[in-house]
Amino acid sequence: MKYSCGLIRDLLPLYVDKVCSSDSRKAVEEHIFECNECLSLLNELKNGESEEILETEKAEVLSRHSKKERRKTFIIGIIAAALFMIPVIVCLIVNLAVGHGLDWFFIVLASLGLTASVTVLPMLTVKYRFPVTLCGATVCLMLLMMTVCIYTGGDWFFVAASSSLFGLCAVFLPVVFRCLPQNGALRSHKGLLSLAADTLLYFVMLIFIGLYINADNTFWGIALTLSAVFVPVVWVVFLLLRYWHTNPLIKSGALTVALSAAAFFSNYLINRLLIIFGIESRPEYKSIQLFKPFEWNIDTVNWNINWLIMIVGIITGAALIIAGIVRRKR
Ligand SMILES: [Zn+2]
Repeated sequence: MKYSCGLIRDLLPLYVDKVCSSDSRKAVEEHIFECNECLSLLNELKNGESEEILETEKAEVLSRHSKKERRKTFIIGIIAAALFMIPVIVCLIVNLAVGHGLDWFFIVLASLGLTASVTVLPMLTVKYRFPVTLCGATVCLMLLMMTVCIYTGGDWFFVAASSSLFGLCAVFLPVVFRCLPQNGALRSHKGLLSLAADTLLYFVMLIFIGLYINADNTFWGIALTLSAVFVPVVWVVFLLLRYWHTNPLIKSGALTVALSAAAFFSNYLINRLLIIFGIESRPEYKSIQLFKPFEWNIDTVNWNINWLIMIVGIITGAALIIAGIVRRKR
């Protein structure tokens, strides 16, 4: 053989792509005539290339197909939207015909809007389908509650709307943020923005509930006290989880310690704050009591449990932290 297999194999990709000189081509062809190993390598290379072509063609077919599907869905969406107009028009006419102007018609309109927002809207949306559908459905839900509230002469709209909004945002806001284009603060602070919005909506809901029930000082005292103790706990857990870049074992250990300490002090703290608001509270939480492991009765049971939770929490947390430090050193 004139050339070594190594030299020929270097040339094979160029040969397959038909970009080598005629001398090289001749050399390759002469060599594979005699060398079966290089011949089978050449065939593999050729197959690889045809697979690539096949892949590209497949992708093109798929994209064409999905475009067609999208167009079909869009047309079905338009037809469904038109069908939704039939009951709307019928109700409009009937409502006007029975003579007391337009009233319950708006309830029908809002409920059909709500149905359409979760059926027709996703079919008509191409970009950001999930966020658009969710926003549409939320707006329609608010409109439906408002129309029903006005029609029945109720005063509960703001309570219902703010609580629904709080619940929907707590569940769906992180998903919506993920679907939106990721730039600026949204790229790295989706969780922070979600929790900030949830916190705001929580207090808005609290205010509307208070106003609705014509709350007295006891309501505000208890509501604000519980919020003042538990909202920061949620924030601390979130901030530690999200922004403290450390070994997961150390992180979970620190969180276990922090949460068991929070559990230990929360009842006591709630009690102190309730006293400030002038609300009668549990006598055993007036002060922090010592751990009495050999004395279990009605006066000691709560503090003994608190102590046990904290001790177990600190031991577990410390073990996790030590395990984390050991693993990081290795
Ligand atoms: Zn060879």
